[in-house]
Amino acid sequence: MMKYDYLIVGIGLYGAICAHELKKKGYKTLLIDKRDHIAGNIYTEEIEGINVHKYGAHIFHTSNKVVWDYISQFAEFNNYINSPIARYKNECYNLPFNMNTFSKLWNDVFTPKDALKKIEEERKDSYKENPKNLEEQAINLVGKTIYEKLIKGYTEKQWGKACTELPPFIIKRLPVRFTYDNNYFNDRYQGIPIGGYTKIIEKLIDGIDVRLNCDFKDNKKELLKIVDKIIYTGPIDEYYDYIFGPLEYRSVRFENEILDIENYQGCAVVNYTEREIPYTRIIEHKHFEFGKGNKTIISKEYSCKWELGIEPYYPVNDDKNNNLYSKYKELSSRENKVSFGGRLGLFKYYDMDDIIEVALAFIDTIPNK
Ligand code: UDP
Repeated sequence: MMKYDYLIVGIGLYGAICAHELKKKGYKTLLIDKRDHIAGNIYTEEIEGINVHKYGAHIFHTSNKVVWDYISQFAEFNNYINSPIARYKNECYNLPFNMNTFSKLWNDVFTPKDALKKIEEERKDSYKENPKNLEEQAINLVGKTIYEKLIKGYTEKQWGKACTELPPFIIKRLPVRFTYDNNYFNDRYQGIPIGGYTKIIEKLIDGIDVRLNCDFKDNKKELLKIVDKIIYTGPIDEYYDYIFGPLEYRSVRFENEILDIENYQGCAVVNYTEREIPYTRIIEHKHFEFGKGNKTIISKEYSCKWELGIEPYYPVNDDKNNNLYSKYKELSSRENKVSFGGRLGLFKYYDMDDIIEVALAFIDTIPNK
């Protein structure tokens, strides 16, 4: 019987990096995934010559040169810069919040000074010294009009909760700038891997044993006989059979359409920020790679409540869930054969670059075999 030093559960970015680095250190690894494909939620599939981001748009961005150099070993990145559009009723704005947004919202705003003055007026009545929730944080940052038009509806659809019940940190992901700059991210490095994300994972796991359609739970008994240690990248509460109760996640559902037109919306990401439209955004995949063909593929993204049996996407990192997670984490710290990784295993709203950083830090703790 083949024996392995490590079993890695989940072949997403975290699992694949661990497998790759462990191989370099001389360990033998078995990778399993319950899905019928590799790459987790960064999986892209080529349809009509377009790399479709099957589990939601992934735009790589980082300020960490080590991370950028690391991932660049496995792909060449194009020069895509994310500059999404926000649609609110019959109005159309640039994101993130910047001079283009402000000057379109208010016809007497032209300069940074005008914009600052306007936002100051917009927030002065409700400014809070220590914002306790997302609504307070958002109004502090950009004032009431932007909050009402571009934040409230979108955020409540995405999280299924009132902004007064959401933690302030979520909105800190979004830059506010007093320059005419529509780049959604502040990071030094950004792009989409030419050829899609799945190829990155293929390269990372080259030469490593893989079993697809293999659920850890269903095969636990057999797997434990052939592996020494486990890296688990599924939900940590699931691993422990929800003994402290389930952690809360958000899920997403996509409606994909192939259209016989060349260009549907003129950019990769359009956010629908009003409450009344049921989806949060429409992704037009070809624009991630400047596609020129005469067909296009769009995905309407619907945010939905997570329940047992459907895919978790976003950990809900509010106090209640973070406290619950710390109980699971405490339990996991006493394990000597199992460690946890990835967005689900670590219960944190990590971006891809964070995942690479965390995976490499974990690998650093493991000596060569
Ligand atoms: N957000 C918003 N309006 C937008 C886009 C984003 O209010 O048009 C806020 C919202 O609170 C959301 C957060 O910014 O939850 C993060 O959005 P992002 O698009 O970065 O999330 P992701 O791409 O990770 O799904």
